[in-house]
Amino acid sequence: MKKLTRVLPVMLAALIAFALLSPAFAANESDTVKNVIIMIGDGMGVNHLKMAKQELEITLSMDENFPIKGFSQTRSFDNKVTDSAAGGTALSCGIRTSNGFVGVFPLDPLRFFSVPTSITEAAMADGKRTGVVTTDKLTGATPATFSAHTYARGNSKIIASQQMTSGIDLLWGTKNDYFSAATASENGFEYIETLNEMESLGNGSKSLGQFSDDCWSRTPKSETTPTLEAMTASAISILDNEDGGFFLMVEGAHIDKHSHGQKVDEMVDSLYSFDDAVKVAVDFAKQDGNTVVIVTADHETGGITLVGDKYEFTMGSHSGADVPLLVYGSDDIISDGETIKNKDVPLLASRVFGVEALFTQNGRGFITGFFFKIFSFLF
Ligand SMILES: [Zn+2]
Repeated sequence: MKKLTRVLPVMLAALIAFALLSPAFAANESDTVKNVIIMIGDGMGVNHLKMAKQELEITLSMDENFPIKGFSQTRSFDNKVTDSAAGGTALSCGIRTSNGFVGVFPLDPLRFFSVPTSITEAAMADGKRTGVVTTDKLTGATPATFSAHTYARGNSKIIASQQMTSGIDLLWGTKNDYFSAATASENGFEYIETLNEMESLGNGSKSLGQFSDDCWSRTPKSETTPTLEAMTASAISILDNEDGGFFLMVEGAHIDKHSHGQKVDEMVDSLYSFDDAVKVAVDFAKQDGNTVVIVTADHETGGITLVGDKYEFTMGSHSGADVPLLVYGSDDIISDGETIKNKDVPLLASRVFGVEALFTQNGRGFITGFFFKIFSFLF
């Protein structure tokens, strides 16, 4: 007991010091917006846009509609080149973690001491509706980081079960074995598989969607498959509400998948499909007047470089290149031309969203979690 009385004041002082020294963004209520839409072009580097325009000479919403264009530095906690799990965790939880980790601290992957809050959870705690939409399987790394917390991106079963009980209103991706109509309805979701079923969902409904995996293309093979553009439009009309507003994450996963395969036509198709979805979100934001749209990527894939007078893939893996960071609807996130760290994207977004108080803990999560755990053992 004597030892304890000597140690306690030191621990308390350390805890208070960490609490005071941790970065916290100043609240500014007057600048808050109602809705935030984060759109992630998985693997989409600056030169992906240039390659797309070189192949199909049509304009991109990402070029035309954003007054603020900056860049995000994409490294992870343990590597200069991030994967989608650590890259997604930076964009969802505002922390840098190790490659392969989904929404957990790098020093506490088993969640023994603490778990970082995601912007989805912060929005939910603030009474907002929430949604996660992807052309990937829902248990894929990027959607997982906005809806689950686990030490390995391959823990699909754990990720699926966390997603089912996450409280998220809308979970849409492509088919896998971890969700069924029965388990979805057990957890209070309407289960949908087709474009028609998706478009007949009512405002405020809670739904789990599993579509065919050709939804990444601008022209899916089947008429019953929605495009990412249609998914985004429906998701917005379901989540939009007068009271609390909403948070939506939309991922175009196949920009990355086709860049791994260095398939130019398919990459360009998936990039324009993602851009169609971006246009839908920006058109909504323009008309709504109280919505921020942030478009970025988790990392660059394929090392696209200008070779002679043509943009070409130079590798089949991820690179450490900075990626685009486009903002519509707020001057308070970044200034035009600015480069920030990937982990600052959700922290800055949460500030204009008015949910930053739920996030500030993430900067000191492991340390604070450690001390609280020790205290809870002692008393
Ligand atoms: Zn990848």
